[in-house]
Amino acid sequence: EETVIGRTAVAAKRKEYFYPCTAHFYRDAPQLVRGSMQFIYDEHGKQYTDFFAGVSVVACGHCNPVITSRTIAQLQQLQHTSTVYLTQPNVDLAERLEEVLPGKLRRSFFVNSGSEANEGALLLARMHTGRKGFIALESGLHGRTNLTMSVTGLQMWRTDKYLDEDVTFIERPYHPELSLEEAAAVSLKSLERVLKEKGDTIAAMIVEPIQGNGGMIMPAPAYFREVRTLLDQFGVLLIDDEIQTGYGRTGAMFAMEHFGVVPDIISMAKALGNGVPVAAFATTDEIAASLNRPSASTFGGNPVSAATALAVLDYIRDERLPERAAELGSHLKKGLESLQERYPGMITDVRGTGLMLGAELAGSDAAGSAELTDNVLEAMKDRGYLIGKNGVGRNVLAFQPPLVITSEDVDGMLTALNEVLLQVSTEKEE
Ligand code: PMP
Repeated sequence: EETVIGRTAVAAKRKEYFYPCTAHFYRDAPQLVRGSMQFIYDEHGKQYTDFFAGVSVVACGHCNPVITSRTIAQLQQLQHTSTVYLTQPNVDLAERLEEVLPGKLRRSFFVNSGSEANEGALLLARMHTGRKGFIALESGLHGRTNLTMSVTGLQMWRTDKYLDEDVTFIERPYHPELSLEEAAAVSLKSLERVLKEKGDTIAAMIVEPIQGNGGMIMPAPAYFREVRTLLDQFGVLLIDDEIQTGYGRTGAMFAMEHFGVVPDIISMAKALGNGVPVAAFATTDEIAASLNRPSASTFGGNPVSAATALAVLDYIRDERLPERAAELGSHLKKGLESLQERYPGMITDVRGTGLMLGAELAGSDAAGSAELTDNVLEAMKDRGYLIGKNGVGRNVLAFQPPLVITSEDVDGMLTALNEVLLQVSTEKEE
C-alpha cells in the first residue's frame, strides 16, 4: 500500500519543521516520488524529463538498476565498519579512481559530501604548504562549512558574517561586456597582483573549472594554464573542485582536462555516488604525505558508498558516458543557440560544454530577469521538464541532465522551451 500525502501537506510540513533557509525554486514545487533513468514522477504519476539531475548528481540516471543492484548487494552483505578495519570496496574504489585521475594524482581520502571534500582539500593544502591563505574566484561555490563558505565567492551562499578572512577573491574570467580572452586577462592580472603582494602566505587557489552555481562560466582555453604557471612561481597549490563538473558530464572525465591542466588536488562528490553520498579529495603521493596526523571519517568510504561509486565508475566507462555527454551536449547547445537567434532579447548568452550548459535570460543586470527565469522554469515544469537555474543574477537556465538522456529527450525539451519562450515573449509585448 502506497501512502503518499499530497504536495500541499508536504509543503506545509516543510514549512513547519525545516529551517526558513530552505530555498525554493518553484512557486508550486512538484512532489517527486519515483525516478527511472532520465524520468522522474510526481505524486499524481505525472512524468518529468529531468534536465537538472539534482544539480548534476544522478548522471547515470535515477535508480539505475545496474548501479542499485550493486548498492543493494553490498547493503545486504556488509553495511558499515570503522575505518580501523580493512574492507575491500574502498580500496578498490581508490584504485579505480587512480585509473581516471590525471597526472600523478593517485591517493584518495573518502568523505560524504562536497563541502567535506573541499574542507579536506583546503586542510591538506595548509598542511602541505604550512601557509594559511587561500585565493578563490568571485562567483565560485565550494560549500557550506565555515572554511568552504569562506572560499565561496557567490554572495547568496555566504550566510555567515564570521568567515575566514584569509581568503582573497579575484575577478572571475568572465564579463558580459568583454571577450573571454579579455576577461581572462583581467582575472590573471589580479591573480598576479595578489601573488606578488602575499604569494608566500597563500596555501592554494581553489577553482571550479566551469563554475556551476556561478552561472556556467567556462573560461577561455588558455586561462587555467596561465593560472597554473603563476601559482607554480609562488609555490601555491591548485585545488580543482570537480564536484559539479566531474565524471564525464562535460565530455571529459574531469572538466580541467579541457584546459590541459593537471591540478594538485581534485575534490569530488555529487555524481560520484549517483545519489548515494560519497565524496573524496585526491592528490599525489608527495602532497598526501603531508596529511600524516590521525584523521578519519565515520562514514567516509563505507562499503555501501564505495561499492556504489565503483558501480558508477564502471557504468560511466562501459556506457561511454563522456562521449555521450559530448555528443548530446553539442546537439543541445546548438538547439539553445538557435533559440537564442530566435529570441535574442530573451536568451542573451549560451555557455558551457557537454551536458553542463547554461542559457542566460535577458542579461544579468536587466530588471526582471530573475522573475522571467522563474516563469520559464515554472512553465517548463508544467510541460514536464525539470531544468535548473543559477548565476549571480539567478537568471541562467541550467541544463545538466542525467547523461543517459536521448536526443529525442533533448528535442522534446527544446520544443517545449520554444513554446514557453514564445508565450513569455508575447506576454511581454502585451
Ligand atoms: N562545490 C561545488 C562546485 C558545488 O556545486 C557544491 C554543491 N552545489 C559543493 C561544492 C558543495 O557540495 P555539498 O552540497 O555536497 O556539500
